[in-house]
Amino acid sequence: MIDGLVKKSLREFSPYVSARSLYKKGILLDANENPFETGLNRYPDPTYTELRKALADYVGVNFKNIFVGAGSDEVLSLLGRLVLDENSEAIVFSPTYGMYKVITASCGAKFIDLPLNEINFQIDKNLLYKKLNSKVKIVFICSPNNPTGNLIRMEDILELLGRFDGLVVVDEAYIEFSSVKSLASEVKDYPNLVVLRTFSKAWGLAGARVGYCVAGEEVVGYLNKLKLPYNLNSLSEKVALDALKNSFVMKMEVRKILDEREKIKIALEAMGLRVSPSDSNFLFVRFEGAGQLVKKMAEKFKIIIRAFPDGFRVSVGLPEENLAFINSLKKLI
Ligand code: PMP
Repeated sequence: MIDGLVKKSLREFSPYVSARSLYKKGILLDANENPFETGLNRYPDPTYTELRKALADYVGVNFKNIFVGAGSDEVLSLLGRLVLDENSEAIVFSPTYGMYKVITASCGAKFIDLPLNEINFQIDKNLLYKKLNSKVKIVFICSPNNPTGNLIRMEDILELLGRFDGLVVVDEAYIEFSSVKSLASEVKDYPNLVVLRTFSKAWGLAGARVGYCVAGEEVVGYLNKLKLPYNLNSLSEKVALDALKNSFVMKMEVRKILDEREKIKIALEAMGLRVSPSDSNFLFVRFEGAGQLVKKMAEKFKIIIRAFPDGFRVSVGLPEENLAFINSLKKLI
């Protein structure tokens, strides 16, 4: 199923065979490394098996279903390159994370931009099924969605997986903030499902650039073929492994962030604002003229939030930062 989706050139090419993919132990004189120990003088294991096994335990799948990258953006970019070319199309649901369109366009493919419905930011299935055709190779779904914060209905995603043979990329960058189950366990039933995850949000490691996807072995195999040999650096791999060993820290921080999110929501609603339900670490507020408001917030108070055509998005910060945001907003509206 996946073979037919992947671009012909990638089906046929032979990947580079890196030194460390052949031998990891012994007297290593094969990779032109400097033998003097710095802690970083050796290349990392290009299969990243230790991290993938730790992630497999965390997610509850086999490590062969995990692919790691330098941020989930790298994984997204590789997925685009795997299946998109000038003759193909990708579907995105707006408003959403902007990189899906950028990656599609950078592969020369056309993106079909479908609006999420206005009431609760869900997929409009009538529109979606009208637009699906044999040129569509990827449907990007962000759940919880950035910037609106809501989950996309799981039954709609499962229905799409049953009706569409292209890649369904479900970006779960914010899933740790949600009480709802990840779709990752479904990869055993759907070879075209790719669930994207990251260490940049709940894990507090945006600077380390570690992301991964959970997918069928065929997709993981192609991503491994396409990736640069040592795409994740050893420092980041170690930081991610340490974080996984101490996942209680992440869970504790998530609880604090969710408590703060509720406080912000109550304060915003008390001001008469329309706050969308959130399963993430940010809130989306429908607001006319959000661009102006965001500008004033930055100029007057040095508080930076993000504007969108229909409203603004504010990330949950430290308690004192959230208080400063609410107090400043009160002065502006
Ligand atoms: N997906 C979503 C929905 C995001 O919001 C972001 C970053 N803001 C990313 C992916 C990229 O994350 P990473 O840092 O893992 O590249």
